[in-house]
Amino acid sequence: MIGALVLRTVFAVVWQHRLSARQKAYREYMRSEVWRCLRREAVERDGKRCRLCNAGGALQVHHRYYPEVLGTETVDALTTLCGACHEVVAHRDRHLLGWAPFLGRFR
Ligand SMILES: [Zn+2]
Repeated sequence: MIGALVLRTVFAVVWQHRLSARQKAYREYMRSEVWRCLRREAVERDGKRCRLCNAGGALQVHHRYYPEVLGTETVDALTTLCGACHEVVAHRDRHLLGWAPFLGRFR
């Protein structure tokens, strides 16, 4: 019983550490010149509008899928969304796919 509790705690700590490292890598990528160029290309391609509701203004760029290595994706992997639509789409992806697809892909 105690062994299982210790094992679960260790697993949770390791899991959180792995998640944090990937989140950190993702945040760093979001500040990179490669991302800025791809982002700009996606927004221009989409006419500076949300692809779902056609809103202008403050736009975000969503990864429709992730490459094995961040920075190797093309603009085809991206779509421009407003904040509200991005929230809905990101929630949908987490709900449908869980976190698993996102955890092994950030390097
Ligand atoms: Zn929208």
